[in-house]
Amino acid sequence: MTDSNSSLFERAVRVIPGGVNSPVRAFGSVGGTPYFVQSGDGPYIWDAEGRRYIDYVQSYGPGILGHAHPAVVEAITRAAAEGTSYGAPTEAEVVLAEMVVERIAGLESVRFVSSGTEATMSAIRLARGATARDRIVKFAGCYHGHADALLAAGGSGVANQGLTGCDGVTTGAVADTVVAPYNVVPELDHTVAAVIVEPVAANMGLVAPAPGFLEGLRAACDSVGALLVFDEVITGFRLGRGGAAGYFGVVPDLWCFGKVIGGGLPVGAFGGRADVMANLAPLGDVYQAGTLSGNPLAMAAGRATLELLDDAAHERLTATATRLGDGLAAAFADAGLAAMLPRVGPLLGVFFGDTTPGDFDEASVLARNGVYPKVFHALLARGVAFAPGAYEVLFPSLAHTDDVVDETIGIAAEAAAEVVGDLL
Ligand SMILES: *Cc1c(COP(=O)(O)O)cnc(C)c1O
Repeated sequence: MTDSNSSLFERAVRVIPGGVNSPVRAFGSVGGTPYFVQSGDGPYIWDAEGRRYIDYVQSYGPGILGHAHPAVVEAITRAAAEGTSYGAPTEAEVVLAEMVVERIAGLESVRFVSSGTEATMSAIRLARGATARDRIVKFAGCYHGHADALLAAGGSGVANQGLTGCDGVTTGAVADTVVAPYNVVPELDHTVAAVIVEPVAANMGLVAPAPGFLEGLRAACDSVGALLVFDEVITGFRLGRGGAAGYFGVVPDLWCFGKVIGGGLPVGAFGGRADVMANLAPLGDVYQAGTLSGNPLAMAAGRATLELLDDAAHERLTATATRLGDGLAAAFADAGLAAMLPRVGPLLGVFFGDTTPGDFDEASVLARNGVYPKVFHALLARGVAFAPGAYEVLFPSLAHTDDVVDETIGIAAEAAAEVVGDLL
C-alpha cells in the first residue's frame, strides 16, 4: 500500500492541474475527490487504500476484456522485450491493419495514430483535403476528442454556426464547424466537406440513433458530395465485429477508432475507402504523421484484444449489458427512483428521469437534475465504480460474469434506497 487517496490527491494537485490528466477524473461534476487506482484485475480495481470496486469505467471503453487480461499482458511484455519504438515500419502494424480491414466492410485502408482525438482531427483534415471544401457538420452532444475545430458549441434546437466551446479555441478555429441537433438530418450544401457523427451517441449518456437518422445522413452526404465520417471510437469493435457500420448497415466514407482498438494502450486509427485515404502523405498532399504511431507495444495490445472479440464475445457482452440494464432498472424502480437504461447491443446508458432522451438538450436536463452524483457516491461507498459524470455510459466487460453483475444489482438496490431516502 502507498499513500491514502486523499494524500495522493493533495500531492497531485500540487504538480498536476486539478490533480488529474483528463478532466472528468477530477470528480468535478459529482463532488468529492478521486480514488487512486493501485491495480486492476478483470472486472475489479483496487484503490490506494486497498478497497475493491466492481469497475464499470474500464478506462472509458478500452477495457473490453477487463483489466490486466493475461493475453494482453503477455503480448505487451513480449513486444517490450524486443524494443519499444523504432521509427521504421513493423509487421505488427500490417497485421493489425489487416485485422481492421477484414472486419470493417467498406474500409480498405487505415492509418494508426495514438489517440481518438488524433483520429478525428486527422479524418477532418483528410475530408477537407479530399473534397477541397472547408465546412464540417457535427452534432451537439457528440464528443470527438479535443481538437480545436471539434470543440464547437451549438445553440439550441437548430443547426448553428459553431461558437467556440472552450477558452483558447479561437472563433476562427470553429468558423467552419456547424453544430446541429442529434437525430435530425441537417440540410447540407456544396460547401460541406464532411459530416461527423457518433453513430450511437455515448458521450451525452447513451442516445441511440433514431430510425432512419444514419441512413438519412448517408443520403444527405451523397446528394452534395460530402463525406460521412463515423466516429466509432466507442462503438468500434464493441457493437459487433463490424462496429456501428456493420450493426446498422450504413457505410460511411471514413471511420475513426480508438479505445478498444488499443486494448488499453494509446491507439487511435482512421480509415476508409482507398481513393479517399490516398490523399494522405506520402501519397497525397494532406500531411499527417506521428513519431509513436503504430507503436509496437500498442499494436500488440490491439491485436491480442481484437483476436478475442469474435461473434460469441459480442453476444456475451450484449447478454451482460442486458442483464445489467434489466437488473438495474428493476432495482431503481423497486426503490421508487425514476430511471431509464437505454441499451444498444452491448452499450448501456443510465439516466435518472422518466423519458429517454433523443438529443443533447433532453439528455442535459436529466444529466443535471442532481440525481446522478447521489447515486454515484452511494454506489462507490458500497464498492461499485460508475464513471464520475452523468454524461458517461457503463462499460461492462467480458470479465463481468453473471455473478458480478448480480452483485452489482444487489448493491444498486441498497444505493437507490439510500438516495430515495435522501431525496425525500
Ligand atoms: C473518447 C472519444 C474520443 C477521443 O478519444 P481520446 O483517445 O480520448 O483522444 C473521440 N470520439 C469519441 C466518440 C470518444 O468517445
